[in-house]
Amino acid sequence: MSLRDFLKNEKDVMEFNESLSTKYEIPLIMKKHDGGSILIFNNIKNYSDFRIVAGICGTREKILKSINANKNNYYEKIINAINNPIKPKIEEFHFDIEKEDLTCLPVLTYYERDPGPYITAGVVIAKHPTKNFQNASIHRLLVLDKKRMAIRIVPRHLYSMYQEAKELGKDLEIAIAIGLHPAVLLGVNTSPKYGIDELWVANSLLDGKLKLTNCETVNIEIPIDSEIIIEGVIKKDELVDEGPFVDLTGNYDIIRKQPVIEINKIMMRKNPLYHAILPGGCEHKLLMGLPKEAKIYDSISKIIPEVKGVRLTMGGCCWFHAVISIKKQAEGDGKNAILAAFGSHPSLKHVVVVDDDIDIDNMSEIEWAIATRFQGDEDLIIIKKARGSSLDPSSDKERMITCKVGIDATIPWDKPRERFLKAKIPGE
Ligand code: MN
Repeated sequence: MSLRDFLKNEKDVMEFNESLSTKYEIPLIMKKHDGGSILIFNNIKNYSDFRIVAGICGTREKILKSINANKNNYYEKIINAINNPIKPKIEEFHFDIEKEDLTCLPVLTYYERDPGPYITAGVVIAKHPTKNFQNASIHRLLVLDKKRMAIRIVPRHLYSMYQEAKELGKDLEIAIAIGLHPAVLLGVNTSPKYGIDELWVANSLLDGKLKLTNCETVNIEIPIDSEIIIEGVIKKDELVDEGPFVDLTGNYDIIRKQPVIEINKIMMRKNPLYHAILPGGCEHKLLMGLPKEAKIYDSISKIIPEVKGVRLTMGGCCWFHAVISIKKQAEGDGKNAILAAFGSHPSLKHVVVVDDDIDIDNMSEIEWAIATRFQGDEDLIIIKKARGSSLDPSSDKERMITCKVGIDATIPWDKPRERFLKAKIPGE
């Protein structure tokens, strides 16, 4: 269940053999091919031992294939993994190479205003300082010097562990894994409740095939198949400027004071594969959005018997816009679906609900449903001053206050239904 195994079975791969720089040159090619093939860079200027891989989660199809699911059944697979995490087996393992210094890694500098090289596909794994559970989540990491990185931590689970360690007067031990199977990356993005190790969720997605091993300098269990492991601590008493960094929306985020990681050591396989995620690219969006689609699907399914599909659309950054198709059974179902969607994904801003005859992967059909089935004075819901996302530049970014809009584009039940149906040609 390694990244190497996954790549062996992947045919949609482009390889680059010319010498390319980690600063802008590789990111530029990543941007050009965003949402397409997997890219492998074999010849990296100043880092001859490494290969860089990008786009392994760059399409919905690639991610779903990695968990043996399709676009109709992945919701249940993800929700089942969250509800039934499986403890992975632990085995002894020793990595081939040991290093002391972050400058050995081919970390990319992506955009013109970036303050330095950023690790973007690092899974940060920590153990609760007093309780016996781990947390795993992806965080952007700005390389500051040979031994230090800035880490952006939004107030969620890792933040709680960091705060609890701080209150005990301790640094928080962590390990960072880079170069993982797409299913592991999806698993760590599922956000189960605090206390559930996302690696156990990933193991459930992989039908129990994920193996872990122990770190050497910290008390943490890491995926045995990782390409690169960085061991260290989040310092209890040091904050630095982090950013500006390009986030999900493709805009620069603000600069904030964020904690510092001090590393102990780096361990790697021979000829390691360094995975890089383009900030604001498809891979970034899908890894964030896909698990949320499952959560939205799950919560609407509790109030409406037949939910056909949920998509967080690419244009909405796989974060702000949802399209939901339902089999409507009563007037008002569309509006209830809108409310359930807003309740299950707080960052959501605009929701469109359509009937089950609309293809939610086809933007034209969605627009057609709005054009022919929606009346603004009856079918629109506006929720003012709700809590939104810090990522939306048009919202009140400090307080995260936003306006939410729901569009019920399902067929109204007080008008003759046949008026709204698509005409068919016999044999079509
Ligand atoms: Mn967690």
